[in-house]
Amino acid sequence: MLVVDTDAPVYTILDVNDAYLFSTNTTRETLVGSGVFAAFPANPTDEESKNVERTIFSFEQAIKTKQPHTMSNYRYDIPVRGTNAFEERYWTTTNTPVTDEKGDVTYFIHSPLNVTELNKTRQREIAGLEALKNNRQQLYSTFMQAPVGIAIFKGSEYITELINPPLCELYGTTVEEMLGKNVFEVLSSSRGLGFEELIDNVRLTGVPFIGEGLPAPIFRKGKLETVYLNFVYEPFREDDGSISGVIAVATEVTEYINAKKRIEEAEERARLAVDAIGLGIYDLDLISGEMITSKQFANIFGFVDPVPRSEYVTRFHPEDLERRSQAHDNAPVTGKLFYEARVIWPDRSGHWVRIEGKVYYNPDGKAIRILGTALDFTEQKKAKEEQQKLITLVANSVDLMAVLDLNGTNAYINNAGKNLLGYNSDQEVSQVPLTELHAPEVLALLHNEVLPTVMKQGKWSGKMMMRHLHRGEIFPVYKNTLRIDDPVDGKPIALGVVMRDMRPDLIAKQALADSEELLRNITSAAPTGLWMSDSNGAITYVNQAWIDWTGIPYGEHICGGWLNSIVEEDREQTAQKFIYDLTNRLLYEAEFRINHIDGTTHWCTANGKPQYRADGSFSGYIGACVDITEQKNLQQQKDDFIGIASHELKTPVTSIKAYTQVLERMLLKKGESREADMIRKMDMQLNRLTSLIGDLLDVTKINSGRLQFNDQEFDFNSLVKDLIEDLQRTTHKHKLIEEFAETALIFGDKERIGQVITNLVTNAIKYSPNANTIIISTALKNNEITLCVQDFGIGISKDKLDRVFEQFYRVSGDKQHTFPGLGLGLYISSEIIKREGGRIWVNSNEGEGSIFCFALPLRLIDTN
Ligand code: ADP
Repeated sequence: MLVVDTDAPVYTILDVNDAYLFSTNTTRETLVGSGVFAAFPANPTDEESKNVERTIFSFEQAIKTKQPHTMSNYRYDIPVRGTNAFEERYWTTTNTPVTDEKGDVTYFIHSPLNVTELNKTRQREIAGLEALKNNRQQLYSTFMQAPVGIAIFKGSEYITELINPPLCELYGTTVEEMLGKNVFEVLSSSRGLGFEELIDNVRLTGVPFIGEGLPAPIFRKGKLETVYLNFVYEPFREDDGSISGVIAVATEVTEYINAKKRIEEAEERARLAVDAIGLGIYDLDLISGEMITSKQFANIFGFVDPVPRSEYVTRFHPEDLERRSQAHDNAPVTGKLFYEARVIWPDRSGHWVRIEGKVYYNPDGKAIRILGTALDFTEQKKAKEEQQKLITLVANSVDLMAVLDLNGTNAYINNAGKNLLGYNSDQEVSQVPLTELHAPEVLALLHNEVLPTVMKQGKWSGKMMMRHLHRGEIFPVYKNTLRIDDPVDGKPIALGVVMRDMRPDLIAKQALADSEELLRNITSAAPTGLWMSDSNGAITYVNQAWIDWTGIPYGEHICGGWLNSIVEEDREQTAQKFIYDLTNRLLYEAEFRINHIDGTTHWCTANGKPQYRADGSFSGYIGACVDITEQKNLQQQKDDFIGIASHELKTPVTSIKAYTQVLERMLLKKGESREADMIRKMDMQLNRLTSLIGDLLDVTKINSGRLQFNDQEFDFNSLVKDLIEDLQRTTHKHKLIEEFAETALIFGDKERIGQVITNLVTNAIKYSPNANTIIISTALKNNEITLCVQDFGIGISKDKLDRVFEQFYRVSGDKQHTFPGLGLGLYISSEIIKREGGRIWVNSNEGEGSIFCFALPLRLIDTN
């Protein structure tokens, strides 16, 4: 401190203490007695602090007020002794006046405190604060302009304390609308979606929440939309670590999410599309040769799941392997792989597969990878082939086929059509108007009926007169016109025309009519009845000859009417036979009598052949009736003659026989045995003659239906036994062997049945001259008794077997003529057996022998 005199303006220093000397770098001698300002002049470089004036002012205040006066923290630089330089100093100084007993200020004590260091610290502090302030400002503006939305929500009410425009924009609000308000109150649409809980959780637990791509409904620009956000809720901590709110940092990723979704959708669509068209996908690494394939790819090659490349190769058709490897050789050159080949599945089915791919190269231009697809286009190929066939068909059709545009120009016409209408060039096809192709008189029909009908109902068909383009000839066609609609929208797009030239048909029809006429003339002129029936046997046609014979009009013969022409006794039988043959589709054969218009009765032999359609179904009969009255009469005459002749022969033969027997006995009596033997031989010949006459008589009786039967009950086996005994006597060469089953009683004509057995055994003897046994067997089965006669003779050839039972039929051959006979025995036998209700048949092998059998029913006799 200094003790300073009040002698303004010098202010002489009266005293000084050591501390002052030290702090001001001075000595007592320099200071005491010197004026304050002389000792401490102002620093000429310091133009601001006005330290001298301020100090004087403080001195004066202290003197005037008699109170201590303090100047705090002011600059007063101290001269560096021995130099002109100054040292910067800051001081806080109090000037304390000291008064005498009168109360006047006599001197004052100037006590400065060096605050230079303190001041410097303060200045640094201020500079620091300033920087901090700047920082804060910077931070705030960063915050406000940050490209992410940031906000601080305070307290449990989440009052918005701070929010930046990007977040407001995201929220669709303004900073003003948000500040100081509960965030959920402002953004009411996001309430109740779990955001409150999220944010509560962060505030209460201090654990941040990070959400990515979460959807949130936001009401902005006048409408509610879903936005996607990436956001973070961080706890907002006070200095003491307590949590007073939540910091929200949010960015909108709606665009990104939508784009991602669109990509995913596009990917899904592409995948679906690939699947839908059945495309298989492969990725071939050309360096390693490895190939990754889709399931669909495997399926196309007939595998359930993908397999290594080498296995796929085994499935190719061997003939297509060359094409495949060529395509692979070309691929690195062209950048594209393309080939079509057949693939054979394990079930041996063939499939057409199209392989396509794009080649990828490394920077050196080496092909390293092929990416592509496989498609099974078997169906398309087939469809194309079908289409090709159709096109060929249309092009080669003999009928005109054409397609017309709706304006009537010809878009296509096949060759047949060009020829029919006389087109010479394609130019004519597209340019000649329809009116020139039609007969003038049908143009009205074309416009008023055909076209409107086609457009309305889809088609028109009918006869139409066309005109040849160059010859001008008018000719008839049958025309089909149809509307062709777009398969997609159903709108008409064209007209299809099919036309058939009717001239050949008309010519053919005329030819047919002519030939029909001719046939009619022939059939009506023929002396034969002709007839046709349908598949039910109803008569559909009879010819003029039949109508002329019967005098019954055509219509009355149709269906079953023809039967009325037949004599009543023959009618039922004829009808039955027809029904039987019809049902069994047999050749119809019948003989019957018909009544002619002139009252005469005529014999007819009718036959009919079953007819079949192209598909094999039965269509009915075509047949003829021939008048055989003449033959019948002749036959009758012959029968009558035979009847009379045999009858007339019988009486003399009987008496001759009687005489020979008498003669034989007389000669034997006389002992003329040689003569007697001759007579006996004569008798045997007479027996044969009698039997021949008997056969002839029987035949006439059979033919005229006069064969008599005397049915009685008899034991079958004993009849056979008796007969064999007699027959054995007629032959020495043959042994007749009996093989009998148990016997049975038969009801029938014993004589006639005996006649049959005799005939069969006699034939067996006769036709086996070189054999020595004949087996006669009987059997009892199914209410029938059967007798068979087996010989080992010449036999009968198979083709003649059926005929041996016919009248007068004799097998002709190199041996047969050596055997005498009339060919009547078997005929008579079969008639007898038939009349007794039985059956007769033969089995034979030529050269080996025959076996003739008949079977008779065991009739139950009422013993009462
Ligand atoms: P025929 O008087 O000629 O013997 P049949 O009616 O008894 O007349 O026989 C008809 C024909 O059948 C004979 O002419 C003969 O050719 C043939 N026939 C009949 N029986 C036999 C048989 N057992 N073996 C070979 N042929 C036979």
